[in-house]
Amino acid sequence: MLRLPGLIDPHVHLREPGATHKEDFDSGTTAALVGGFTMVMVMPNTQPPLVDSPSLALAYDAAKAKARCDYGIYLGASTDNASTAAVLAPKVSGLKMYLDQTYGPLHLDGLDAIQTHFANWPFDRPLVAHAEGKSLATVLLLAAQNARPVHICHVSRKEEIILIRKAKEKGVPVTCEVTPHHLFLTEDDLPRIGAGRGEVRPPLASTADREALWANLEVIDCFATDHAPHTLAENDGQTPPPGFPGLETALGLLLTAVHQGRLTIDELVSRMYTNPQRIFGLPKQDETMIEVDPDAAWEVHSNELHTRCGWTPFEGIQLRGRVRRVTLRGELAYEDGEIHVPPGFGVNVAPIAQ
Ligand SMILES: [Zn+2]
Repeated sequence: MLRLPGLIDPHVHLREPGATHKEDFDSGTTAALVGGFTMVMVMPNTQPPLVDSPSLALAYDAAKAKARCDYGIYLGASTDNASTAAVLAPKVSGLKMYLDQTYGPLHLDGLDAIQTHFANWPFDRPLVAHAEGKSLATVLLLAAQNARPVHICHVSRKEEIILIRKAKEKGVPVTCEVTPHHLFLTEDDLPRIGAGRGEVRPPLASTADREALWANLEVIDCFATDHAPHTLAENDGQTPPPGFPGLETALGLLLTAVHQGRLTIDELVSRMYTNPQRIFGLPKQDETMIEVDPDAAWEVHSNELHTRCGWTPFEGIQLRGRVRRVTLRGELAYEDGEIHVPPGFGVNVAPIAQ
């Protein structure tokens, strides 16, 4: 049995408030624990989006009542809150800027609002950006100009990871994350997954893009699931929304890569624990660890997953390595298919917790 720290996922969507038929703080944090994550960072593109105190209160009330693992919540950057967001910085775990097409209404249009957020958000609090292509170049320039750290979400393409590599070489304070689905799937998987279920942002890319991510592993600071569940009915419907569930398959996929010699355990732990803890200034979780059977062979079946969405793009895939036990703050939280901590066990890790 392999003992690892409790994993940290800096990018999940738990759909609460507003879309608890897809996921909520209970089902989402259960999926997290089953997947070996003891802390998750929750995105603000909910209904309503988390852009001010009243909307944040909805999320914090739900999380406090239902979360089974520890959590941080991001504030959403909007055009309207560009000059007021900084006041809320101590009460959240970071600011999320959406510069490109995504699910939900949060979208920052216009250089002025982006510049204002960059200038106003406290330099010692995390600033994260969904920024693809030319938007990525914009964000990197503003990070350099303002000499402030920025974290780039779900990097998926060759030209983007190379741009980040070059920015790092020039001393730009940028960090980045890559999802397991962009490391393990490409557009060639779409016929197997199905067109509606294959919708994700950024989209699945080419084999050359995927190989460029692996070739630039040292540029990747974090593995983040971008767990973004929608129901099967929605994904198989007329206007399929983008997003994959990922909390329960991420570690198995990456341990399989370890088994294949593509990744070391140290490289995995730095990207799923050490780096996210440092980049996001997260507190240590005392007496917390996961125990993993690195040799356990298993096949992914959606009916065995705990996410409410009821499907996975990895259906039927054979993995090697599985979580057996999770201990969170001294309590047995999960063991062999059974969750042992109640809703409300999770704590808010923001500097001023609500
Ligand atoms: Zn996301």
